[in-house]
This record gives sequence, C-alpha cells and structure tokens, in this order.
Amino acid sequence: MRIPLLIGNWKMNKGPSETAELVEGLLAALEGISGVDVGIAPPFVSLHAAKGALVRPPMVLLGAQNCHWAESGAFTGEISPSMLAECGCSFAILGHSERRQFFGENDSGVSKRAHALLKAGMVPVVCVGETLDEREAGAHLEVVEKQLTASLEGIEAGSLGRVVIAYEPVWAIGTGKTASPEQAQQMHEHIRKILIKLGGAAVADGIRILYGGSVTPDNAAILLKQPDIDGALVGGASLDAQKFASIVRFSV
Ligand code: PEP
Repeated sequence: MRIPLLIGNWKMNKGPSETAELVEGLLAALEGISGVDVGIAPPFVSLHAAKGALVRPPMVLLGAQNCHWAESGAFTGEISPSMLAECGCSFAILGHSERRQFFGENDSGVSKRAHALLKAGMVPVVCVGETLDEREAGAHLEVVEKQLTASLEGIEAGSLGRVVIAYEPVWAIGTGKTASPEQAQQMHEHIRKILIKLGGAAVADGIRILYGGSVTPDNAAILLKQPDIDGALVGGASLDAQKFASIVRFSV
C-alpha cells in the first residue's frame, strides 16, 4: 500500500512574509485530512519562514526545488543537501523541466544530486517527462525511459526505494493542458516497469510515482484514481491553500 504524496512546487513565488501567510492558510485548510503525505517546496529564501510556520499539526513536509551535489565549496549560488536538511528539508525536487529548459540541467546532474540527497538522508523527487514534439513523434515512452534510467544511475535497490518519481509531461506544465487519465496511467505503468528492471518488483511496488502538469481541483479526482498514480506534484494550484487542500482531499 503506497501512501499518497502531494507536493506543492511554489516555483519562484512567495517571499518569506507571504510564505508564513500561505502556510498558515494551508494548515487550516488541511485540518482533518489524514492518510496522505503532504509537502511544500518554497523558494530557498522562504524555507526558514516556512519551517517557522509549520509548527502545529497537520504535519507538512518541507522541501527544496533543487540542490547541488557537493557538500560545500566553490559553487557560487548553490545550496547543498546538508544545508537544506539544516533548514528542515526532508526532500528536494530534481530535474524539473524548467531547470532542464532554462538552466541546462541534465540527467547526469540529476543523478549526482540524487546520490547526494540520499547520502544526506533526504528524498530525491526526480522529475521526468517528454515534450510535445516527442509525444507527437510517438517517442514519449522511450524518452522517459532514457531520462529515468540515466537520472537514477548507480542507485542501488536498497536506496532506490526512498526515491520519489514525478512524471510531468512538459507540454502540460503551467499550460492548463493535462494528460488524460489514460495517457498518465500508461506512462506511470511504464515507469513502474522500468523501476522493476532497476530495483526489482518489491522495491518498485513501494515507490511513489506522482503526476504533475496543470493539476487542479477539477481534474485531480480522476487522475488520482489511476492505479499507478500515487499523488501529484502541483505548481500553480499549490499557491492557493483551498485549491491545494481540495486536491489533497481527492487523493484519500
Ligand atoms: C510543476 O511546476 O511541477 C507543475 C506541475 O506546474 P503546474 O501545476 O502549474 O502545471
């Protein structure tokens, strides 16, 4: 039994003062919901404010939107996993398509970051997904298999079970277009099969695979009902406490 996981990716929104307000609203909106793990990934500079506001139940996990693979050193502008852990983070999103598209990140960097997070006792949330051109060319399954295999390279079965995967078709992120439940389920099933190859059936069966791409309260129910969709990575709608809480409610 996989416990659903819903993560809000705040992207470059909400500075420290707005963060405290949104967290307060979120905790109130989530009250009474159980049987689901919920996380938020605010900008780095807002992590401290978020941690300060996450002081009462329900429990909400704190995470970052990226990290570096080194422990410390001459990497101007970067943040290490242990620094994030010290700020209260238990996970970090890796390889988001916006990082790949605008900042040149690639699968080998994702793999290095994933190893570093696991070493620090944290959870990597590894994002994969095809572009519209790749889907229209019928290459989506192959593209995601390559991304996933390279991003998880060298992670042993023992640690693989701690990883979370987020399938985010690039054409569905922030566009208002969502993959149909059938398209999403087909890809999630495909990802589960790849995870079986990488870590065996027992490990793959425990790994949570999240769907991301314009998830809203209007489409969450049907997506989250699919057998291999174990939660969602939510961008835009996670900036509204009521909307995000409604999505969370559909997962239980
Ligand atoms: C995301 O940023 O991971 C995302 C899925 O964004 P949105 O929900 O806004 O499409």
